[in-house]
Amino acid sequence: MTGFLMLFTFGCSSYQEAEQLRVETSLFAMNTYMTFTAYGENSEAALESAKQKIKELESLWSVTDEDSEIYQANYSSGQFVQMSADTAALVSFALEMARKIEGALEPTLYPVLRAWGFTTEQKQVPSQEELDQLLSLVDYSQISLQGNRLTVPDGMELDLGAVGKGYAADLATEILREQGIESALLSLGGNIQAVGSRPDGTDWRIGIHAPWEKENLGVLQVRDAAVVTSGGYENYSEDTQGNIYWHIIDPSTGFPAHSGLQSVTIIGTDGKTCDALSTALFVMGPEKAEKYWRKTSSFDMLLVTEDNEVILTEGIADSFVLSDGRDETVRVLKR
Ligand code: ADP
Ligand code: MG
Repeated sequence: MTGFLMLFTFGCSSYQEAEQLRVETSLFAMNTYMTFTAYGENSEAALESAKQKIKELESLWSVTDEDSEIYQANYSSGQFVQMSADTAALVSFALEMARKIEGALEPTLYPVLRAWGFTTEQKQVPSQEELDQLLSLVDYSQISLQGNRLTVPDGMELDLGAVGKGYAADLATEILREQGIESALLSLGGNIQAVGSRPDGTDWRIGIHAPWEKENLGVLQVRDAAVVTSGGYENYSEDTQGNIYWHIIDPSTGFPAHSGLQSVTIIGTDGKTCDALSTALFVMGPEKAEKYWRKTSSFDMLLVTEDNEVILTEGIADSFVLSDGRDETVRVLKR
């Protein structure tokens, strides 16, 4: 029972959770503090299975753990390495999204990210010369996946950081559903996965962070949805002149992406697509993001621009409310 918090809620709260069993657990994995909440019978066992799955996936996908499958592939001197089904599926998905979103999502950026020190506490600004040299090692089209056999050319390195948490959230959701859970909320840092609705049948209320602030920008109401946010404020460093460098990199320059956005939230049905898009649209900027949304109808988005404009797509226009006292202008994109 350690690590679990069990709460019986007696008396009718506004949530109407009377006599519902609520179980909450947390873990640190994939460089993120995660909190999972589930309601109803079997919640404790279901959350334990979901947690085990996340830990297993972390040990397969870590870029720094020498025993992980991704590490093995990155240090294989160009020889193929056999992947588990989950890893092969994630790599296949990342490559497919990289092809769809030409130029913004680059699963082989790791040598560049390491040069910036985002993988450690030793953050630094690499020289242009170093970046140019490292960018010659960045090209997802050279990665080969034949069935479960992954080949990473010598010197190149895969990093699934932009999509892994979303895919992990999908697999955790699947486990909860298989175990009969109809109401749960999974928070994996910037990735939220809402399973079903709240136990009383109303929508989940998800706080959307105001970039660079402690407060929420507003609240979004969803059910059965993934809500994934990427923003420069989530992981960054500052140099002695006060310049800020964040962890989302424009693959065409090797520098942190400055596309006119402070944050991107993607709302959709599956976590992995939302995760890939949150990173990619942050790199693309508001105009290209809008174009991509218009040609791909499968998601909604909430963008916060550099001039504090909030851009919403019509599918969530009625589900998002700005917090009291905020003065951002809100623009709704319609098809
Ligand atoms: P987080 O994982 O911090 O919630 P993201 O989903 O936006 O945020 O993923 C950012 C991570 O993805 C970075 O930490 C890095 O590992 C990787 N990354 C950064 N830029 C790119 C990019 N253009 N394409 C693919 N991966 C990237
Ligand atoms: Mg992402």
